[in-house]
Amino acid sequence: MSLFGDEDLPIVATRESELDFWNQTSFEQLAQQFRSGSMHHGVLLLGADGIGRDAFADEFARWVLCQNHSEVESACGDCKSCHLYESQSHPDYYPLAIEDGKTQIAVDQVRQLISSLQESAHQSGWKVANIHQVSALNQNSYNALLKTLEEPQPKTLLILQTEQLQQVPATIRSRSQLLSLSISDQEAIQAWLEDRKGHSTDDLTLALNLFPQAPYKAEDFANNGDAFKCGEFIFDIAFLLEAKEPALALAEKWLPDVEDCCLWMQLMMRDLLLFAQTNNKDLIALKGQQEAIEIICGILSNQGLLQLNDKIIELRSLIMKKSPVNLSSSWQSLLIYCTQLAQKFRRIA
Ligand SMILES: [Zn+2]
Repeated sequence: MSLFGDEDLPIVATRESELDFWNQTSFEQLAQQFRSGSMHHGVLLLGADGIGRDAFADEFARWVLCQNHSEVESACGDCKSCHLYESQSHPDYYPLAIEDGKTQIAVDQVRQLISSLQESAHQSGWKVANIHQVSALNQNSYNALLKTLEEPQPKTLLILQTEQLQQVPATIRSRSQLLSLSISDQEAIQAWLEDRKGHSTDDLTLALNLFPQAPYKAEDFANNGDAFKCGEFIFDIAFLLEAKEPALALAEKWLPDVEDCCLWMQLMMRDLLLFAQTNNKDLIALKGQQEAIEIICGILSNQGLLQLNDKIIELRSLIMKKSPVNLSSSWQSLLIYCTQLAQKFRRIA
């Protein structure tokens, strides 16, 4: 049904784009390169989880596949291709993600993708592959992918998503075009978050401080109670170092939240290292936990802080890799290690 009279039907209908407003400029730049023929066939899309990277890849793929892309700024939503995309059955769109229960994208998935990309397009337009997490490929998959990046079929686009550049092998990086999503206007993001929440809160401000490049992560952190729990946890760590709380009791208390705790510890470390170096309270992002940060910095020497930092990174990378590790005992060891550091690496007043 059209809102327009029959005489005035627009040539191309338009649909509301799902692109986040802060990613609009990057989208337009890439679209411009696509139109002028200067876009590389492999686009390495770099952006923090929570910046809307998936939505960006999704919108761009949809637009490239749209039969009216030369006339519209975002996919029209009305052509056959758009309908196929909407119903998740576009034969020329190849999203590639980790299958349920797996920790990596299987090399067979990649081989199947590559062989599909070598065939001609079903809808006589473009073929688009969207790899949601390049870091989830293994070495064999990278090798298989390289050939496609080096000798692409015409009208073929590979979107390779990553959260961190160092997670992508140099061979892949050098054979693709880097597009980095980033946010410069923090005030606009703050206003957007406040608008969605309905009002401003200290938790929102804190969350945005902690995740300046990830509005969705910040929103989640502020709204799901994490901001409050994170604050309590950091005070518990200060009490642990002051020997006011036993390590094993704290390990048990926080075990259900261990993944979040590791993230919070990393956020805490950022403040600790900065404060230890500058002694400037204004630089502390975890404003509500300023006292705890000062207590911890008063106990641990700089060397002790660095040792703790290494240990946290170690545990976090085990969690991220979903390594078969006894999480409970690693978590206990980390907290016991904290108390040992407090004895061995005491700051001399
Ligand atoms: Zn369309």
